Amino acid sequence: MPARAGDDGTTLPISVIHGAGPGPVLALTAGVHGQEYTPVLALQRLLKTVDPKALTGTLILVHVSNMPSYLARTIYCSPADAKNLNRVFPGRADGTLSERIADVITREVIDRAAHVVDVHCGDGNESLRPYSYWITSGPPGVADAGKQMALAFGLDHIVVDRERPLDPKASIYLSNTAITRGKPALTIESGGMARTDEASIAAPHKTPPVRSLPTHGVPPYHTAVGARVLAIGSTPVRDAMERAAQLVPRGENEGRLVSPPRCNSPPPQPCTVWL
Ligand SMILES: [Zn+2]
Repeated sequence: MPARAGDDGTTLPISVIHGAGPGPVLALTAGVHGQEYTPVLALQRLLKTVDPKALTGTLILVHVSNMPSYLARTIYCSPADAKNLNRVFPGRADGTLSERIADVITREVIDRAAHVVDVHCGDGNESLRPYSYWITSGPPGVADAGKQMALAFGLDHIVVDRERPLDPKASIYLSNTAITRGKPALTIESGGMARTDEASIAAPHKTPPVRSLPTHGVPPYHTAVGARVLAIGSTPVRDAMERAAQLVPRGENEGRLVSPPRCNSPPPQPCTVWL
């Protein structure tokens, strides 16, 4: 899917599955960040299991959204322009490579879909337990539909995010690009540290069902399910030194807090931003 003729850098590996009957279009995107492998494997697995004869509507699978970063194995940022693809939406057809990729995904995937799920995990430096982002901003009705998507996806932690931009021309994030265009969307996290573990790939099928999701009185960036509260900081980034769910003795270090990478200044070569 080139943004324009000859723009090979924006060519994306995509599968489109048309069901036997007409219906809505669901788009799933993986590989927005370079070392997030569990979403890529999950979509490949999904492709093999979907039976078009039993499908109503259309499924669009973007297997690797950020090929430059995937091929160079960079975290967060593209080696081409040092930009984070998930911070430049809706993109620009005449922009840098990351902006052109965002533009292609906006026009060719999001604009054609009724619902969007952007599947992530922790990048090569992060370990994230499975959770969904429920984004409550956007046009009326979209947040409620997004809530139903989060419940249906089945992960047992849901982060309520009330702070995404409302301007479709500055939507910044992939899933928020769908939401600002009136299409319910989710962002999913499961796995990380450049691993390809089965538990992270198959997380939606292994977690207990979500029981309730309050719509009022929940501060942003906290989980809304059960008694557990999971703070999602946008400030310090945890450089995990241990495996997820591993028991760490009291007093031992389990990770380091470091400044978040700044993708846009100055360009790293390659994007070994902060490790
Ligand atoms: Zn990501």
